[in-house]
Amino acid sequence: MLFTPAAPIRTVQYVPGHNRWHPDIPPVAEVIAGGSIRLNCQGDEVLCGPIGVVGAEPGDLLMVEVLGIGRLDGCFSPAGHPGILGCAPSHAMLGDTAGAPDGALLGRIAPSSADHARVAASASPVHGSCRALAPRAQILLPVHVPGARVSAGHLHFPDEDGCRIEDGWLDLRMHLTKRGMERFRITEPVLMPITTSSLDATVAGLTVGVA
Ligand SMILES: [Zn+2]
Repeated sequence: MLFTPAAPIRTVQYVPGHNRWHPDIPPVAEVIAGGSIRLNCQGDEVLCGPIGVVGAEPGDLLMVEVLGIGRLDGCFSPAGHPGILGCAPSHAMLGDTAGAPDGALLGRIAPSSADHARVAASASPVHGSCRALAPRAQILLPVHVPGARVSAGHLHFPDEDGCRIEDGWLDLRMHLTKRGMERFRITEPVLMPITTSSLDATVAGLTVGVA
């Protein structure tokens, strides 16, 4: 059988970012399970995304693998890491965590629309942190909404004075385990230890002790 080489697919276009978490912020692109995507992240105020993962449903477990990160000059930064990476919350999770709607950026939801006012009023604020999400890190994220809706941003680049937030790119690969929250009894995001093992070995390690 002959295979025709596919032309590269431009998967991410320029789209407005968001600075709140909410299940109704529409995805800006989709990626298949096992597929990878590059996010071009700008500034320390907005997140890039949400990225929809085809077939992801509430109760599934998403493993997000950080393939690489770098500044806009294109160079790979071995110690760079996103300050924020997560999946959209469910409506039930929003609860009483809503932040101030003032200044809410909601991606493709137009700022002057009725939808914007409604979503902003119940959206959760975004908090960054400095975690070891460097290249080769694998993060397990419970899926709460159809498509998972992954967002990331606040790219950190360490120097001698600490972490500096700069514009840059972030390459992620998405792996999906159906009903993974139940299978692995995981309800919160988990940062997997970085080992020299393959993804298979890491997943095998996760299953140890699970009857
Ligand atoms: Zn940092």
